[in-house]
Amino acid sequence: MLRLMFIFSNPPFIECPRCKEEAFGICSIGPNGFTRRCGKCDFPVKTEFRAWYPLPELNKKVIYLDQSALSNMMKALHPKAGSRKVHEIWHKLFCELDRLSKLQVIVCPDSTIHYEESLVYQLGEQVKRIYELFSHGITFRDVDFVWGRQTLESFESWIETGRPPQRYNAERAISGDPNRWQDKIIITTNLPTSPERQEYTKVRKQEIHQRMLGLYKAWSKERNDFSHWFGQELAEVKDQTIDKFGNQLVQATRIRYPDINAVETVTGYFGNDLSEHLPLPRIQAALFAQTAHDVSVGGRLRPKDEGDYNDIQALSFALPYCDAVLVDNASRSLVNRVRERAGLQFPSQIFGIDQAEAFLEFLEKIESQIPKEHLKMVAEVYGPDYGLPYVEVFHDDQSLEQK
Ligand SMILES: [Zn+2]
Repeated sequence: MLRLMFIFSNPPFIECPRCKEEAFGICSIGPNGFTRRCGKCDFPVKTEFRAWYPLPELNKKVIYLDQSALSNMMKALHPKAGSRKVHEIWHKLFCELDRLSKLQVIVCPDSTIHYEESLVYQLGEQVKRIYELFSHGITFRDVDFVWGRQTLESFESWIETGRPPQRYNAERAISGDPNRWQDKIIITTNLPTSPERQEYTKVRKQEIHQRMLGLYKAWSKERNDFSHWFGQELAEVKDQTIDKFGNQLVQATRIRYPDINAVETVTGYFGNDLSEHLPLPRIQAALFAQTAHDVSVGGRLRPKDEGDYNDIQALSFALPYCDAVLVDNASRSLVNRVRERAGLQFPSQIFGIDQAEAFLEFLEKIESQIPKEHLKMVAEVYGPDYGLPYVEVFHDDQSLEQK
């Protein structure tokens, strides 16, 4: 199947340099160029000439869409959604996101959280189709992986400049190149989910929920302000960073900086407060501390569902790397309440589900700023109609009728 893709010549066609027919089409696209082949004479088969054309570098906006946003878009598009109908804004949002994604100006990475939540959600398969359409296989790495990368990046920057990095490198936290020109064909695997995997995910969710219930209980017994809880969380972050990655830093120092004493250097790094400023664990610490504070003064006494923990995890890996996140309202309000008091620094704008209109405006602004030359290039490679949104995504899906 993969081989066939390289033989096909797809529109838009231009004149073939050999047979002069209007049949010199697009063969493959990405990551930083495209190839052409003639559908009539097969040019350039068996020639020295390679019909490869470079494409300009991209700087896509990175957007994180949480499960509730994806689920709303799915319901807005599915012809069988029936009583599950949602506000029409979600249809508009899908169209704009799909359009900008096809115009190569945004990318919406997915994550293990999307995968796991879809696995135990009744309409999970449909949600998966939406997030795969927008992610093109670009995925946020797991929390521990990103935490480790941030630790190494912060440590290396401290050795070389005495300061933490200005902005952490998204390519280290995302699998796949977010700035590649996407091929037209998305290859997704819809392997049947094994009942064991589904069961494991359910059990894990329940365990997390039980752990959260335990934490809520402990927090409710002790009335304390935010700074108390935040201090406690940060101390834990530091201990965990040393436990998880201390040895890795020593090994990395021995390889990269053989002339310095590795153990002393790593001890020196952990002796300052830089490891408390790693974006991912600091965001997590702040969100847990605020929740602890709310519970301890009698605000919210139970986690709303198993999703609470996942929401905090998703915010902690998405906010440091995204230009915008669209999350549920509780998550948005939680971040806004701690952002300043916890000294959280991240580039991302945060939109709640009830701000779908504002999020749409944000996307429309991105579209209005696309340079004309870029649109011309997209039309040349993908065809003039490529920006049309794929609203028929569920037209062949019969599975919802039985649900
Ligand atoms: Zn030809």
